Amino acid sequence: MNILLLGAKGQLGRELQSSMASAGDLIALDRSGGAGGLCGDLEDLRGISDTVSDLKPDIIINAAAYTKVDQAEEDKDLAYIVNSQAPVVLAREAKKIDALLVHYSTDYVFDGSGDKPWREDDPTQPLNVYGASKLEGEQNIISSGCSYLIFRTSWVYSSHGDNFAKKMISLAMQRDELKVINDQIGAPTGAKLLADCTAKVIPHVLADYELGGLYHLSASGEASWYEYACFVLDQARSFGINLKVTPESVIPVSSDSFPTPAKRPHNSRLDCSKFSKVFGIELPNWKVGVSEMLDSYLPVISGASS
Ligand code: NDP
Repeated sequence: MNILLLGAKGQLGRELQSSMASAGDLIALDRSGGAGGLCGDLEDLRGISDTVSDLKPDIIINAAAYTKVDQAEEDKDLAYIVNSQAPVVLAREAKKIDALLVHYSTDYVFDGSGDKPWREDDPTQPLNVYGASKLEGEQNIISSGCSYLIFRTSWVYSSHGDNFAKKMISLAMQRDELKVINDQIGAPTGAKLLADCTAKVIPHVLADYELGGLYHLSASGEASWYEYACFVLDQARSFGINLKVTPESVIPVSSDSFPTPAKRPHNSRLDCSKFSKVFGIELPNWKVGVSEMLDSYLPVISGASS
């Protein structure tokens, strides 16, 4: 089984490299490409097309995306090339060689109204360029006629590099007060959970292409960024990290307090019952993954905080 992974150095791409390692021969490309003139740059539509047609993989996993949500408001053309046009090319090539295309999308395809978790067939209405470009990417894949799996997810973090939890701890060690948004609700979802679920599900879809399609996939439970921050800081305090901020000086504020170029949805809840039902996978509460990430991170910084 030959697997082509694009976006190998992103949060999800890194986790997929380990979760998919035993699934077959994995060729993992970042935007700089690889040996033999392979192209991993999604801005280079011809290069991507040639790479897929040279390698003829059985599975193409696209973990690459233009993910700079605020920057996308200015870089609209680039966001659409990477998030919408590159998926056209991947889907077209996948169809030619009968490969399965695995792709990821976002809760930002919705307008964030109401408080019910979004289902796959709810009406979409993105609030920003990033969300609109990702939605067009989904639609391009779906209309191509290729075999696909598209996972819409939310609030992705990874233990590699920076993430929201690490930033909150770092700020809480330096400041007396922290203001955190409490009117955007979602489920922090580990890149590892996404990658592990992807690896578990692919064999089912290869055995029965009817199981392919669009799925919502995030950790279960819900939180505002404020609740997420409080959980992380409580864990850090319990571990003995020396925080300047007290629990009372973490202040919930509305999104208006932090104006950004791109509007964000208030309701990012995703209903993942279709995924759980079809594949028989129960998704863990978001606190499980965040705690695991902190279990390895807190010992690293405990020396620095004393
Ligand atoms: P990251 O930003 O961590 O990774 C995206 C990767 O795509 C980066 O390695 C980036 O490379 C790469 N990339 C960007 N442009 C190109 C290009 N032109 N050619 C090749 N590679 C490129 O994102 P995540 O891993 O978090 O996201 C994975 C998927 O999940 C994406 O589809 C995203 O839209 C979706 N998603 C993410 C959410 C989140 O909170 N992060 C929430 C919901 C959905 P480089 O670093 O060189 O720019």
